Amino acid sequence: MLGCGRQKRMSSIEDKLRSRSGNACELCASTEGLKALAVPPTGEHDSADRYIYACEPCRSQVLGTSELEATHWFCLRESIWSEVPAVQVVGYRLLKRLEGEGWAQDLIGQVYLSEEVQEWADSDVESDAIDAVVTLDSNGAQLADGDSVTLIKDLDVKGAGFVAKRGTMVRNIRLIDDPENIEGRVNKITLVLKTKFLKRVS
Ligand SMILES: [Zn+2]
Repeated sequence: MLGCGRQKRMSSIEDKLRSRSGNACELCASTEGLKALAVPPTGEHDSADRYIYACEPCRSQVLGTSELEATHWFCLRESIWSEVPAVQVVGYRLLKRLEGEGWAQDLIGQVYLSEEVQEWADSDVESDAIDAVVTLDSNGAQLADGDSVTLIKDLDVKGAGFVAKRGTMVRNIRLIDDPENIEGRVNKITLVLKTKFLKRVS
């Protein structure tokens, strides 16, 4: 039980998010590439309440791995009125980042957040949502220490004289400072692997 705790917990969170969202992105209503996205700070509150269900373009812009596209976020005119606190928090933080846009400024003036949600929205915005180094796999799924990944292509391991085959599972990966690479063991050798050739096993 203990060993697979994190994965079990994540899949039950995903189940809850799927039903809460009606299987659509809670920000833009897209139905493709949906995954759980943590709304920091999480820490001790590791439950579906601290996650939103979001599509890949929304996730990557929220996390800051791709540029904010102001027009994409017109969707916030709808989703900011969500009853889900985590969605309100993400929406509010995005509007703050978009404050240069007149419409975003107007919207932020109309939004009312409860005291608790406001506090959440104001905490850790900079460290977690904007500046954090986030390591993503080839599908844009966030990787964490201890995750398992598979290789999506054959990799010639220079110097070790073998080819790590496509589909090879690499368990218990370690993140490093560089978000484009992780460390993992293949054939008992610790390698630095490019995240663009990896897929998280969920
Ligand atoms: Zn979306």
